[in-house]
Amino acid sequence: PLVLALETSCDESAAAIVRDQTVLASAVASQVEEHARWGGVVPEIASRRHVEALPQLIEQVCRDSGVTMAELDGIAATAAPGLVGALLVASVTGRTLARLHGKPFVAVHHLEGHLCSVQLGEPLPPGPYLVLLVSGGHTELLRVDGPGRYLRLGRSHDDAAGEAFDKVSRLLGLGYPGGPAIEAAGQNGDPLRFALPKGRVSRPEGGFYPYDFSFSGLKTAMLRQVRALEAEHQAEHQAGGEPLPLADLAASFEQVVAQVLVERSCRCAREQGLGTLVLVGGVAANRRLRQLLEQRCGLDGLAWRVAPLAYCTDNAAMIGVAGAQRLAGGQSSCFDLGVAARLPLEQAGLLYESQPC
Ligand code: ATP
Ligand code: MG
Ligand code: FE
Repeated sequence: PLVLALETSCDESAAAIVRDQTVLASAVASQVEEHARWGGVVPEIASRRHVEALPQLIEQVCRDSGVTMAELDGIAATAAPGLVGALLVASVTGRTLARLHGKPFVAVHHLEGHLCSVQLGEPLPPGPYLVLLVSGGHTELLRVDGPGRYLRLGRSHDDAAGEAFDKVSRLLGLGYPGGPAIEAAGQNGDPLRFALPKGRVSRPEGGFYPYDFSFSGLKTAMLRQVRALEAEHQAEHQAGGEPLPLADLAASFEQVVAQVLVERSCRCAREQGLGTLVLVGGVAANRRLRQLLEQRCGLDGLAWRVAPLAYCTDNAAMIGVAGAQRLAGGQSSCFDLGVAARLPLEQAGLLYESQPC
C-alpha cells in the first residue's frame, strides 16, 4: 500500500510517503535546539511547534515524491505512546486528511514504527528474530514472530539507555540530546580508562534476571567518578592544569553501555534459539554499539541487522512501513480513536479493534 505517514510523538515533527517498505519521500523537522535551552523536552512548546511544522512537511513530501492525496491507499499517524498534546497534532491532522480525501486512517504504535525501521534496510532472514529496541524512553528485548506478534523477553527496570546518555551528558556538561554529544566527545577517548558497573537486576528469589537492564547505578558511578576527578584536580593544582578527561569519561561510558546491551542481547538470542538479532531505536545510531553488535554476533554465529542510520531516531518513514503493513493485513482505525501517553507494544492491536468509521 501507498501511505502518507505522520509522526509527532515527542520533539521531532515528521512526514513521509512510503510504498510498503520503500521510502518515496521523508522529511523531519527537529526541535532539539529549542528544547536544548531547557535541557529536555518542554511538552507545551513541542505541541505548538508540531502545529507550525507539520503542514509544510506534508506539502514537502507530496512535492518530493510527486504523489497526490488521491493516489494514497491510507494515511497513518502515531497514536501512542508519547506526549499527549504532541501526539494529538499528527493524529488529528491524519484523521482530518483521511476523512477529507475518503481514505482509511491507520493509527500506529510508535515502538512498532521503530521495529519496522529495520525493514528500510537489508531484507531480514526468514523466521522469528530478537529485537533490541533502545530509544529515549525504552530499552526492551522483543521476540518478533511477525507483524503485531511481539513477546517482551527483557527490559530496563529504571532509566532507558537513551535517557542514561542524556543524563550523563548533562552531568559532563555536554548538552542535549546526550547521545550524539557523548559520541562526539568520546570519539578519541580511551574506552577502558574507567571501570564502570554493568548494572544487574536481582530476582526476589535470588540471582539475576538474565535479560534485564539497570542504568541508574551506572549514572551514579559516573557522578562519583567525576566528583573524585574534580577533587583530585583541585588538590593537585590550585589553578590551571588538565580539566575533566571528557573524552575518556564519554568513551568509557559508551563502552560499558554497549557491552551490557550486546552481551545480554546475544545471550538472550542464543538461549531462546533466535538466529537473528536486530538493533533499532535512537541509541542504535551509536557507532560503538553498532560495531560491538556486529563483532559479537559474528563470534556467536548470529545474523544481525541494524536500522539504517537515517531512520534510527524518530521519523515518519518507519511509521509509514508499520501503517502499510497493518493496511496490507486488512486493518485500519476508527476516526474517533484518541491518543494514549502509554500503551504496551503487546497491546498495539487495540488501535485496530473497533470498526473503521
Ligand atoms: P521513544 O522512542 O522511547 O518514545 P524517543 O522517541 O524520544 O523515545 P528516539 O528518537 O528513538 O527516542 O531516540 C532518542 C534518543 O536516542 C535520545 O535519548 C538520544 O540521546 C539517543 N541517541 C541519539 N543518537 C545517539 C547516538 N549516536 N548514540 C547514543 N544515543 C543516541
Ligand atoms: Mg526526539
Ligand atoms: Fe522514538
